[in-house]
Amino acid sequence: AQVRELVESKLATIPDFPEPGVLFRDLTPVFADGPAFHALAEALTAPFAGRFDVLAGVEARGFLLAGAASALCGAGVLPVRKAGKLPRAVLREEYDLEYGTAALEVHEGELPPGSRVLIVDDVLATGGTVGAAARLVERAGWTVAGVSVAIELEALGGRGMLAGRYDVHSVLRY
Ligand code: IMP
Repeated sequence: AQVRELVESKLATIPDFPEPGVLFRDLTPVFADGPAFHALAEALTAPFAGRFDVLAGVEARGFLLAGAASALCGAGVLPVRKAGKLPRAVLREEYDLEYGTAALEVHEGELPPGSRVLIVDDVLATGGTVGAAARLVERAGWTVAGVSVAIELEALGGRGMLAGRYDVHSVLRY
């Protein structure tokens, strides 16, 4: 409860960004506040203690969260990158955006087989992004330990898309 209040007190909510009708949740003031960022990073991994080996951070805000959580819990980080950024052999998964598609990539063989990977991102909306990250983890021969996000936008149905298959945790829900 304390972490929720702390994070919520710093969270910015911007109407009509990036387009009319969208209520954008902006975590940058949380990142800028030491105690709030620390508490958020801790709250992302606490429910999964002992059940993961590596944190997968989704570019770009997931990098910040996974990196901070990594320093607190000692797990490594798997960067899940936008297409075309990684220099070695990759696996690629495409996913739907409101307009068009996007793709995420990981280096194949980056982690030992069977590694338990906790997927971290800032916002869970439709679940398309995190779903693509989960498919990458599984195709690479690792297992999804769970999905942990700072903010879940419940009306967009991401949990429903992932539920049953993955343990989904969110710090704040709207
Ligand atoms: P999804 O793929 O529909 O679940 O959308 C999640 C992705 O879009 C995440 O990587 C978020 O960074 C981004 N996103 C969606 N809504 C918001 C928002 O309100 N604030 C910040 N990022 C958002």
